[in-house]
Amino acid sequence: MEVSKLEHFKQLLLAELPGHARHVSEEQAAALDAASDDAKESADLAMRDVTEEMALKLGDRESQMVADIDQALLRIEEGSYGVCVRCGRPIDERRLEAMPAARYDAECQAVIEAAKGMNARPSL
Ligand SMILES: [Zn+2]
Repeated sequence: MEVSKLEHFKQLLLAELPGHARHVSEEQAAALDAASDDAKESADLAMRDVTEEMALKLGDRESQMVADIDQALLRIEEGSYGVCVRCGRPIDERRLEAMPAARYDAECQAVIEAAKGMNARPSL
């Protein structure tokens, strides 16, 4: 993907972040307060770990969204942004406009959603 486009999606991702990050940061602060002084010295690294750990633990929609955005920003840095992590094909740019943190192309997303739906649906 072109650098100018990557920059565009990076801005979209960052624009989505603050509202959700605020929600998480209160819990982060509490978690960091509980941590030892030694741990506070490496707050930057700890913050990232705490964010991802809590996103997994809470299974909270907003925390998960922050983690997704975080991952997407990481993929921009790594140069793997905009490529489906499942099949390796490029993700449609219109899809990225709507969901800049998208990890999958529409086809793989549909397969994953279908599998989830089957598991979640109560058996009648
Ligand atoms: Zn795919």
